[in-house]
Amino acid sequence: MAPPAIPTRELPLLPELDGDALADALAEAVAIPTVSLPSGGDAAAFEQLHDMLRRRYSEIFAACEVENVGLSLLMRWPGRDAARAPIILTAHLDVVPAPSEGWTHAPFSGTQADGFVWGRGTIDDKLGVIGLLAAADSLARSSFAPGRDVYFAFGYDEEVGGTDGAAVLAERLRARGVRAEFVLDEGGALALGVLPGITRPVALVGIAEKGFATIELVAHAEGGHSSMPPKQGAIGRLARATARLEASPLPTDLRGPSRAMVERLGAELGFGPRLVFANLWLFAPAVRLALSQHPASNAIVRTTTAATMFDAGTAANVLAPSAQAVVNFRILPGDTVAGVLAHARAQVDDDTIELRCVECWEPSPTARTETEAFALIAQTIAALWPDAVVSPSLVVGATDARHYAAIADDVYRFLPVTMAEEDRARLHGIDERIPKAVLQRATRFYQALLRAAAE
Ligand SMILES: [Zn+2]
Repeated sequence: MAPPAIPTRELPLLPELDGDALADALAEAVAIPTVSLPSGGDAAAFEQLHDMLRRRYSEIFAACEVENVGLSLLMRWPGRDAARAPIILTAHLDVVPAPSEGWTHAPFSGTQADGFVWGRGTIDDKLGVIGLLAAADSLARSSFAPGRDVYFAFGYDEEVGGTDGAAVLAERLRARGVRAEFVLDEGGALALGVLPGITRPVALVGIAEKGFATIELVAHAEGGHSSMPPKQGAIGRLARATARLEASPLPTDLRGPSRAMVERLGAELGFGPRLVFANLWLFAPAVRLALSQHPASNAIVRTTTAATMFDAGTAANVLAPSAQAVVNFRILPGDTVAGVLAHARAQVDDDTIELRCVECWEPSPTARTETEAFALIAQTIAALWPDAVVSPSLVVGATDARHYAAIADDVYRFLPVTMAEEDRARLHGIDERIPKAVLQRATRFYQALLRAAAE
């Protein structure tokens, strides 16, 4: 099967971008430590960031109705035609904490060196905030006025679940009757080295994200002195239960967004593999088996099981009266929280162990790829990265995007930056950074997308 051709699209005439000013703005934003509040952050930092954005991007702030919703920012750029469905572009203001050890440049110093802006949040996700606002501001300064409403929605707690930020913004829009044609958030990116046979960058546009289930397991037992132990105590029983869960993950399946991604990327491979990927009706079991061998691709084809916490015992000579373990599942679209719980109970197969959902949500709905919006995103990518392969994908982590499912059928997840394998580890790790040229091209992407989508 030949890949669907993406009609090329000339970039419209766009306002000049000053790469140094963009880097300065991102560096200034990064130097304001907007760590999510539950992770030790400080509300004043968010207010400082709001002020900085308002000062740098005064034209788009003047053109928009701006609301402070808690520490989130919601901006509506009114369009000429109120009857057209709006579009919503989102990013988040908060960052994960950054211990200062190990960084080449301190994480909240906003250092520019060697052609990079360094620091926590340069990619995740202040790039999105600065890129979107700089793009919109440049368009507003060139007297561009949108044909339809454009919303910018910047939550402040994405890294801790988005329940006080994006969820509240989405609910406010829903209550006002807003129904968007599409939403664009972070999630996928232009990935290098995705598959051995593909040397071109692959623009992974997330069309869904996995669900989430953190399940706590508790075993109770008689306590007492360790000199006269029972045959099995709480620790042994819980260890057995956890081991059983690890040993019997949910089955693999190639469906929905994962299948769309495998079919699209398979079409880029050499003849032999292409034959396999083009005939998944025949080869799906072999492909599933191959994909399940590596953690990154395994996460695309099944609900994953990760035992993440284990807590029991107080002293070397005391029987533990109880033991707790936490297992985190990431749920493949098509599976459910209830299904995961039932699977866990069946595998543990021990009535004395309590299982309880601590934090659980279902997989997101899947956005369509046969829409004008998806074509527009794909064409804009193709115009800026002509050698890229554009593919739908499944986001295996959690983003703010899922909160917008209530107000849009099509929620896409794509951050317009190129990332090699080694860059991905920087996101919540050390030495997060972005090349100035990549920042500029990302902003170009937002300019072009805004221009085309909001004409
Ligand atoms: Zn993020």
